[in-house]
This record gives sequence, structure tokens and C-alpha cells, in this order.
Amino acid sequence: MPGTDASAETQRLETALLSTREELLELQDQLRARLGREHATILDAQLLILEDEDFLGEVRSGIEKEDMGAEMAFTRAMAEALIPLDVSGDALFRERMVDFRDVEQRVLRALRGRAETLPEIKGPCILVARELTPSQTAALDLSLVQGFVLDEGGQTGHTAIIARSLGVPAVVGLKQASREIEDGVGLAIDGGRGHVFVEPDAPTRKRFDVRIARRKQAENRLLTMREAPAETTDGHRIELSANIELPQEIPLARANGARGVGLVRTEYFYFRSSHLPTEEEQLQSYREVLDSVGDGDVIFRALDVGGDKLLAAMGGVREYNPFLGVRGARFLLRNPEILQTQLRALYRASALGSMKLMFPMICDVEELRAFHSHCERVRDALTREGHAFDPDLDLGVMIETPSAVAMAPELAQECDFFSLGTNDLTQYLLAVDRTNARVNYLARPEHPAVLRAIRDTIKAGHEAGIWVGCCGEMGSNPLWAILLVGLGIDEISTNAAAVPMIKKAIRSVSIDQARTWAEEALTMTTADEVERSMRMRSKQQLREFLGSDD
Ligand code: PEP
Ligand code: MG
Repeated sequence: MPGTDASAETQRLETALLSTREELLELQDQLRARLGREHATILDAQLLILEDEDFLGEVRSGIEKEDMGAEMAFTRAMAEALIPLDVSGDALFRERMVDFRDVEQRVLRALRGRAETLPEIKGPCILVARELTPSQTAALDLSLVQGFVLDEGGQTGHTAIIARSLGVPAVVGLKQASREIEDGVGLAIDGGRGHVFVEPDAPTRKRFDVRIARRKQAENRLLTMREAPAETTDGHRIELSANIELPQEIPLARANGARGVGLVRTEYFYFRSSHLPTEEEQLQSYREVLDSVGDGDVIFRALDVGGDKLLAAMGGVREYNPFLGVRGARFLLRNPEILQTQLRALYRASALGSMKLMFPMICDVEELRAFHSHCERVRDALTREGHAFDPDLDLGVMIETPSAVAMAPELAQECDFFSLGTNDLTQYLLAVDRTNARVNYLARPEHPAVLRAIRDTIKAGHEAGIWVGCCGEMGSNPLWAILLVGLGIDEISTNAAAVPMIKKAIRSVSIDQARTWAEEALTMTTADEVERSMRMRSKQQLREFLGSDD
């Protein structure tokens, strides 16, 4: 993908300003026709902002002099323009602030709209970009993408997760890469170490070839255990499955010996569609997943949008703290029609294969109850209409917020299973934005605070007699997978590429060892201590994964 040069960004800005102006003028026409001339003038203030040369000068200077992207320059100039309005308590000025915010949302939406038109991928390539939203990633021809290099994002951001699921490397959070890497140059990238080599010389190429061959050998060795169960040396069995975002990940999951799918991120089915998928379209997609997984269990997660996963149906509303805004359960419960359509499709799919359903971002027992009553309404309607479905479909809760951990004993009384979403749980417990490259080094699921939350969740689940799984990326790391086993996890669902490695990790320890190591980790004070001790303790077992492969 071409880097962002200033003139291209200025062009994007001008186009977005123009289309925002057109949008406002059209709205004004509509208001005039419906409510009369005086009501149409309420949009004048917004149009004036788009013509304010001082303000626009600031935006353009951000792009031209400070090398910012159009979105960033616009948001920064807007924030500066808002400061004096914000501090003056004057009601009139405050009203003007609302106009500024409204215009900001319109322009950013227009910019995002343009950003959605990605260049066509014509052949195998490594994709270099400032950032990729989950919906953009879903729209790509992923069969041609051999790796990702992004300025933004962290290890649990969605592009990195998809890359791992597809078994291709991703180096994220590089800040300047999209500006510095020219379109069409040769690249060698190492996702494990976060290295990118531009126009690699012969010795570097050779080193990469050797490393790739060695990795292939290791993978082949791991695949000899494809049919073996994921159990400790003394026979403690863990259900090991794979997460999928897109149907093309299923073959890799199966080839790697995943028994089932522990998380289907259904939002990607929505991102791939130009409209909100209908009940029949969804049913067809879910049927495909069930058919290609075969006899394993599939856990579908209800639509989880918000945060960095935006859906056109969300109306382009920009939130100042999107991860704390209308996300997951909140979005679904505020949009009952979208929820009901999905629930109908999922319940109908339950007649076609072995599956479960879980709800994302639960913070409160009330939310779970609200989902239950939606499910009941759907079951009643499907019965009336004569559709087949599983009336006892297991309904689970994703534990990924601190409040869900605190309320786990109560939640466990009212659901059939828990699945720990450690990507979000880590984000919310440690207050680290999972998409922010500047703080991503702090997003460590091995932090004792996270481990203690996991311990409490598992205890609450087991005391209520329900099983507890983990579908966060924590389970894709062999060291942390052992910790999860020691903490008492029943199921681990990892990205498809990690399944053989995690199976090997589980098969290399006894349950007593894992429990002792986890108990020790729980008493530790820092993530570094946990990491050091786990590396040392499992040196013998995990030599293959932890050592240098140079
Ligand atoms: C998680 O938060 O750990 C999770 C599995 O959900 P997602 O990554 O889709 O937010
Ligand atoms: Mg999550």
C-alpha cells in the first residue's frame, strides 16, 4: 500500500471537506422542505466551520508541516479549537462546541469512507499501512497477503490476530513504516521479533531462508501430534480449539489438529457484507462454518462491534473513549433488531451442528438477563414458525471486563459456560489500550493482576458447576497456556497457527507442575517476575519455542 504523502493526505482532506459540505447542504434542503426555512439555518454554523480558513489552515499545516495523516491533523486542530470554548462556561459557546463536534464526526466519517477504498491487491504481497481497521482487513483478498507491517496497533489488535490465524507474520506498532517504506520494494519481515528488513541483502535473505526452513521442520514435528489429545503427561485433558474470524482460517485450524472452534468472531461476517447480513445470509455463513468444522464443537460469539471494530450500522458516531463506549453487549442491546436477526440465524444454525453461543463484553447480570429474554423470544417465534433449533443451546458469557470478574459467582448461576477474553480483560484491568502501540508493552496477560482475576473467574465457574475456557490470545503463548492449565482452565482456544505449539506445551508438563507454577505466579508482584520464573521453570519442556532459532 502506498505510504501517506502530504499531497495525497491534503487531497483526501479536501475531498472529505467537499463531501461533508454537500452532505450538509442536502440536509439543509431536507430540513427546509420538512420544517421550514428558519429550521434549516441551524446547519449554517456547521457550514461556516467548513469555511473557516484559520481553522482549516491549522489542519492543512498539520498535514504539510508535521507529516500528519488527514484524520490526525483534523482531530488535533479540532481539539485546539475546542479548548477556549470548553473552558468558557458560556451556554452559547457550548452550543457552538456541539456544532464543532458534529462537523468533526461528519468529516472523519467522510475520511474513513475514502480510506475504505483500499488499493486492489494484484499479486502476493506484504501489506504496509498506517493502520487497518478490522472491516478493511476483512475486505482484503487475504489469500494474497503474505504479511502485514503497520504503523499502529498492538499484539492483541485485530490485524495481528488475523495474521496469526492465517499463519502469516505481522509486525505492528512501527510508527513510521508506511512513510518510510516505498511501494514495491522487497521486504523480509519477522513477526516473532518485530523486525522488518527493506531490500534485504543476500546474507539476510539467506538467514531468513534458513529460519523459515527450520520453522517448517519444527511445525512438521509438531504436526505428528495432530491426532493426539491435548493432555498433560499425567492425563489431565484440556479441550483445545481454534479461534476464527474468517472461514478461510478453518482449513488451517483443522490441519493443525484443533478439535473445534472456541470463538467465531461473527462481526467479520458483517464486515464482509456491504449491508447488514439478513437472517438467511447469516444462516448460510454459520452453516458453512459448522459444515467445514465437522464433528467438533463451535462456539459462536454474538456480534461484538465498537472499540476499534466499527460497523457502518453504528452510524459513524465517533466516541472519545470507544473502548468504554457502545461496544459488544451494549451495542446489541441498544439495537434489538440487529440482535434478534442474529439470534434467529444462530438458533436456526443450532439445528445443523454442535454449537454454543456466547455474549461479548458483559459487565452486568442485567445484561445477561436481557440476552436471555431475547433468546426466549426468538425460541418462541421459531417454534411458532415451525423452524428447527436446539432448545437447550448452551449460552455462555465472555469474561473480559473487571466487573464480570467481580460478578462471576452471580453470572455463573445464570449461564452455561464462561470464556475468558484475556485481550480485553488485560486491557481493562491494566488500563492499557490494546490498539495503542505506545503503551502496548504494558499489555501483559501474565501480570499477577490478570492471573488473579483468572483464578477468581475459574473458581466461581467451577463452584457453580460450569466449565471455563479462554479464547484470548493469552492461550496462544505456550508459557501462559501452561499457567492457564495450572489455574484450572477447561478449554483453550487459540489462533489456528498456534494450536500445535500449545498442544505440545500442554503435553510437556504434569498437572501438578502446572498447578505449582501457577500458584507461585499468583504470589508474585510483577509481570517480569512471572515471565522470568516461567521461562526458567519450563526451559526443559519448551526449549523448542523459547530458544533462539538463529
Ligand atoms: C478477548 O477480548 O480476549 C477476545 C477474545 O475478544 P476480542 O479479541 O475479539 O475482543
Ligand atoms: Mg474481547
